[in-house]
Amino acid sequence: MSDLNIAVLGAGVVGLTTALELQKQFRGARVTVLADKFNEDTTSFVAAGLFRPSTYFRGPTEAITREWIRDSYNYWDDIRVTAEASEAGVAQLSGYVFSNLSPHIVRNHLIENVVPIYRAATEEERMICPGNWKYGSFFTSLLIECGIFLPWATDKFLNAGGKVRRKTVDALSHLAGQYDVTVNCTGIGAKFLCNDYKLVPIRGQVLKVHAPWVKMFFYGDYDTYVIPGFDSITLGGSRHFDNFNLNVCKYDSLGIRERCDSLLPSLKTAKLIGQRVGLRPHRDPVRVEKEVTNVYESKMKIVHNYGHGGYGVTTAPGTAKYAVQLVKEILAGNSKL
Ligand SMILES: Cc1cc2nc3c(=O)[nH]c(=O)nc-3n(C[C@H](O)[C@H](O)[C@H](O)COP(=O)(O)OP(=O)(O)OC[C@H]3O[C@@H](n4cnc5c(N)ncnc54)[C@H](O)[C@@H]3O)c2cc1C
Repeated sequence: MSDLNIAVLGAGVVGLTTALELQKQFRGARVTVLADKFNEDTTSFVAAGLFRPSTYFRGPTEAITREWIRDSYNYWDDIRVTAEASEAGVAQLSGYVFSNLSPHIVRNHLIENVVPIYRAATEEERMICPGNWKYGSFFTSLLIECGIFLPWATDKFLNAGGKVRRKTVDALSHLAGQYDVTVNCTGIGAKFLCNDYKLVPIRGQVLKVHAPWVKMFFYGDYDTYVIPGFDSITLGGSRHFDNFNLNVCKYDSLGIRERCDSLLPSLKTAKLIGQRVGLRPHRDPVRVEKEVTNVYESKMKIVHNYGHGGYGVTTAPGTAKYAVQLVKEILAGNSKL
């Protein structure tokens, strides 16, 4: 039994994938997840959950960014091929990205060589949806539905001996002396905990509709997307930079509905079953870093893992693996700080 005592602050997709990775790499360690919000109250719950990073998604270097994406894909795909896949909320999903603006919009250098299929859409395929689309791609990817994944991951963590505590932490220094290392996975909460002005909320709103006949995802211009999940279809979206408003905006709802109905006219009859708003924790680059701070007489060891923007479901497992490597370094005391 190890004496190691580790805290993970945050119970979104980043916190839980990090907590599971810590249990894997530090067998016998005491790992505690602390958070003030869980499951449906997190940003992770709002996400549609398609594995698709934007081409602007960035870690500290291009090589590390690609490593995070490759590791993440493998993590999710390993779950997909188990009997537990549907209990974990993971499934394979294919679909189209269309644009009339530029051929670059339908390409994605970060995943073209990661997902099993990524190719140009044929002329016939570009006619599937109204819009006279000039450019299109078809690809096969993964869906990770956090409404299912978060409770599944929490159970897995608890069954392996992990502890979960509801707690609001007003300052990281308040945890000093209680844990050997604290991993900070607080998403947009890190803005205030770390006084990090590089971290900006990008507000997003989605609608959930009942349309079980939709089996593929579709993206169009102006942030328009239709992504089927396990029990409902997500219609999006919106992106409001530096906006903290968590209320549903009726104008956003009307715009999203109209754009999605135009992209996929069969949705016009789909019943609205929910609306969600979340703040994407955007930071360029995503912060996965070590920090040792002096709190009174003692040193507090922290590993940060936040700022995944609109791509935290996609990339959480890869950054978790990287963060846990940093935990090993910081505990060994050989970190170049
Ligand atoms: C509309 C929308 C659609 C999206 N679609 C996708 C998608 O299709 N694919 C994709 O990859 N990503 C998508 N995202 C992005 C994704 O949701 C985020 O990147 C991801 O959820 C970030 O996860 P997180 O764990 O960092 O943050 P969160 O899920 O917000 O979790 C943060 C945790 O930290 C805790 N916390 C924060 N501060 C404190 C504190 N002071 N004390 C105690 N606890 C604290 C919170 O309680 C919470 O448990 C979407 C986001 C939105 C809004």
